[in-house]
Amino acid sequence: MYTWLCSTLRDRSGGKRGIIGELRPIRMIPRRRKNSMTNPLLLFALPADLQLEDLLIESETLTLLLSSSQSHQACPDCAHPSSRVHSRYRRRLADLPCQRRAVELYLKVRRFFCENPACSRRTFAESFPDLAPAYARRTLRQGKTLGEIAFALGGRAGRAIASKS
Ligand SMILES: [Zn+2]
Repeated sequence: MYTWLCSTLRDRSGGKRGIIGELRPIRMIPRRRKNSMTNPLLLFALPADLQLEDLLIESETLTLLLSSSQSHQACPDCAHPSSRVHSRYRRRLADLPCQRRAVELYLKVRRFFCENPACSRRTFAESFPDLAPAYARRTLRQGKTLGEIAFALGGRAGRAIASKS
């Protein structure tokens, strides 16, 4: 392939060899990872235990419908794993903007039964500690970024900058 490309360019350059020295062999170009183009979660740098179910792109908003890819969760009290689902609900989280669009994450959250008879907890909701704390309305990274902007710029200037991005 590299030889073919060099000979083609040599022909197009009228036999001049100077252009060949500027080429990098194709073999030296790093190969893409197999899932870099097929997994959109990598584009948004979301935790690997999530899966994207749907993506809605609007003029000012980007909405991602996400769910967990894990089949079971550990009880927060006794650490006993459970895959028996009690119920499901949706949780909405604000994330960092992307291409000047506000990003909203809709998480499908499962509530599991704790099947350990010695445990006092009957049910528990699955958690996403790498994404957001329990009961939070925004992702960890959005909270961190807003905190940094507020600390660096103060209230009024920070609000002006954060609302533009
Ligand atoms: Zn338990």
